[in-house]
Amino acid sequence: MPELPEVEITARRLSRGVAGAEIESALAPGMVTMKTFDPPLDALAGRTLEGVRRVGKMLVVDAGGLLVLIHLMSAGRLQLWDTRASLRDRSSRMLIRLEGGRELRLREFGTQQRAWGKLLAPDALEADEAVATLGPDAVPAPPPGEFARLLDQPRHLHQLLRDQRTIAGIGRSWVDELLWTARLSPFQRASDLDADARERLRKACDEVLAGAIEHYERVIGDTVPDKLPMPLQVHRRAGEACPRCGTTIEAIHFKDYVMCYCPQEQTGGRVLKDRRLSRLLK
Ligand SMILES: [Zn+2]
Repeated sequence: MPELPEVEITARRLSRGVAGAEIESALAPGMVTMKTFDPPLDALAGRTLEGVRRVGKMLVVDAGGLLVLIHLMSAGRLQLWDTRASLRDRSSRMLIRLEGGRELRLREFGTQQRAWGKLLAPDALEADEAVATLGPDAVPAPPPGEFARLLDQPRHLHQLLRDQRTIAGIGRSWVDELLWTARLSPFQRASDLDADARERLRKACDEVLAGAIEHYERVIGDTVPDKLPMPLQVHRRAGEACPRCGTTIEAIHFKDYVMCYCPQEQTGGRVLKDRRLSRLLK
């Protein structure tokens, strides 16, 4: 599940690798990948690839007067390859073939086709629905006044922070890390936070997310691997000791994700009801 730090390092590494390369051709083997049809994807042929950048959790490939907006969704990866994909490779969703046999390849793991791309004119990016609805980026964290306004909603923090319309870049992994760092309950109502708690959370955005990017800068070479070495403290660590206080990290299982937290520091010592367990026990 690539979120802000993972998408950011992907953009940086790809940009370093592809900037200045000429595009030979482009196609989308994923039948439902392209959400735009005019101009066709192969209109990229002959253009120079200028770079790759991040917008929220999405990637933008800039190519001489056109751009490709890409959402990796939960299982997509955009990678640079030295050779071209076999046409039998069923994970291929979009192939941007570069001079010298290289290829910028959007792949997706699993059977679902959810990752998508749009070929747009540069001036259409800001108006695109997926971009226009984004809240401010989580890195750098919005200034205190703006952050307070964003949080002034009667919704649980865990849900609100993952809402890209409120703040852009945070998903199911990093939200656990942010709340743990700020010592806040995932079920705390955002609009009830006092100024001190808000500031802890705001600082956590910079500390945790920017810290993850710095971590990736140190440990990732030219190629971003399929599975990134995520520097997680609590997410996916249910049953382990909290790195700060030693209490056992608890988890709540939802249909397709897990929320992890330290009961000692985040929920006043209470272990919250795990809906999966309570369903099984009914
Ligand atoms: Zn703890």
